[in-house]
Amino acid sequence: MTTEQVIFNNVSFRYAEDQPWVLKNVNFSIKQDEWVAILGHNGSGKSTIAKLMNGLLFPDEGEIYVHGIKVTPDTVWDVREKVGMVFQNPDNQFVGTTVRDDVAFGLENRGIDRNIMIKRIEESLLSVRMTDYLLHEPHRLSGGQKQRVAIAGVLAIQPNLIILDEATAMLDPRGRKEIMTTVNDLRRETKVNLVSITHDLNEITGADRVIVMNDGEVWLETVPRELFKQETALRQIGLDVPFTAKLANRLQTDFEFSQQPLTQKELLDQLWT
Ligand code: ADP
Repeated sequence: MTTEQVIFNNVSFRYAEDQPWVLKNVNFSIKQDEWVAILGHNGSGKSTIAKLMNGLLFPDEGEIYVHGIKVTPDTVWDVREKVGMVFQNPDNQFVGTTVRDDVAFGLENRGIDRNIMIKRIEESLLSVRMTDYLLHEPHRLSGGQKQRVAIAGVLAIQPNLIILDEATAMLDPRGRKEIMTTVNDLRRETKVNLVSITHDLNEITGADRVIVMNDGEVWLETVPRELFKQETALRQIGLDVPFTAKLANRLQTDFEFSQQPLTQKELLDQLWT
């Protein structure tokens, strides 16, 4: 049995023959029990990767394997059983009139036994701290709460892999923080395999590994701690490191290269240039 959850093997993709390649020779793999962040500026190909991972699209060249299954039109339903997706827009993901019905939807579709279903709904809502909202109407919840319910709906199905495709992009800062806390808690408590797709470096700190995309190509694969040091190179591909990472980078440089520690004002002046 393979320990790779996802393998992209020389994958190239374009939306139509007369259009440019959106992914060019993309290679990477994601192991069992990993949280991998896929990072890149807008239009770098991240969402296309997510869609290829669950058979919403198929590669023009190369192969993709998900949990050992080659993704093809014939295997797409098997693949989708393994992969749960949470999308950007929280309002587009609801089908139930209550939180409970919504989380139940995917389970009912799969004909899951009623007692198991009740248990799974309870457990998944507990994982995202939404148990108190069981009978609430989804559309009345905050953006962050809606996304937590969407995550619960995916968790209930017990996929091998959960993909969060810019799941915080439409949320306010509070909602974003809420989702990142939920995701970090989930990882700690359940070790679920995660792929999180984002353009925001603030959201990759908890990931085990990060794959950076630039114009349809893998630009770099590394760990978040190392990536934060590449401030200048990242800026050139349209990505900005978080303030705290800038501070850490400056402090390290200053202590290494300067005899005298900088004053607070000098440090701040440098940080903002
Ligand atoms: P990201 O998720 O990094 O913002 P996408 O994967 O959405 O990037 O897009 C990559 C490229 O593919 C962009 O140039 C985008 O304009 C193009 N693209 C995305 N969706 C379509 C589509 N349905 N038809 C044609 N081109 C598309």
